[in-house]
Amino acid sequence: MKIIAVGRNYADHIQELKNEKPASPVIFMKPDTAILRPNQPFYLPEFSKNIQHEVEIVIKIEKEGKHIAEKFAHKYISGIGLGIDFTARDLQNELKQKGLPWELAKSFDYSAPVSEILPITQFPDLQNIDFHLAVNGEVRQRGNTSQMIFPITAIIAYVSQFITLKKGDLIFTGTPRGVASVEVNDHLEGYIGEQKMLDIQVK
Ligand code: MG
Repeated sequence: MKIIAVGRNYADHIQELKNEKPASPVIFMKPDTAILRPNQPFYLPEFSKNIQHEVEIVIKIEKEGKHIAEKFAHKYISGIGLGIDFTARDLQNELKQKGLPWELAKSFDYSAPVSEILPITQFPDLQNIDFHLAVNGEVRQRGNTSQMIFPITAIIAYVSQFITLKKGDLIFTGTPRGVASVEVNDHLEGYIGEQKMLDIQVK
């Protein structure tokens, strides 16, 4: 399986990082070694002084597809979960400045905690899903999929023009504003609606 991720998909997050609003989705990937299973601790890696959380709605792919038309894209989703796209922001900024790919800042081991996946039938409207992340009991990021620049079906259609999607693949769909550094002993709790999906201790 592979993990595909979308960057800059919420206008308020683009503003906070002073990025430009993209004309088409910004896509990057994480390897399967980036996955952190639910409720496992996250150990801060030594190569960064600024690991930031980005809470995101994650979609799981139901079946193989390429060149998927947007109007059929919903048929390729088996379920929805919550993930964190951990980012080594210092390394990312350094690489960005040099005009280099920022792959390593996004793809390192355990940089992609993913919750249990809830069946798609629980989500009658994909573009109206509330989610949030609390750090040490305080809400830091709050979003709704209605705020996406590129909706979920558009992301599937776009990505599948380039990359064949396979059963079990995951797509991280972008983060709303409020990204911030995580510190040792931080307690991260992620929710879809009022349902707790992630519980991560930072070590
Ligand atoms: Mg992200």
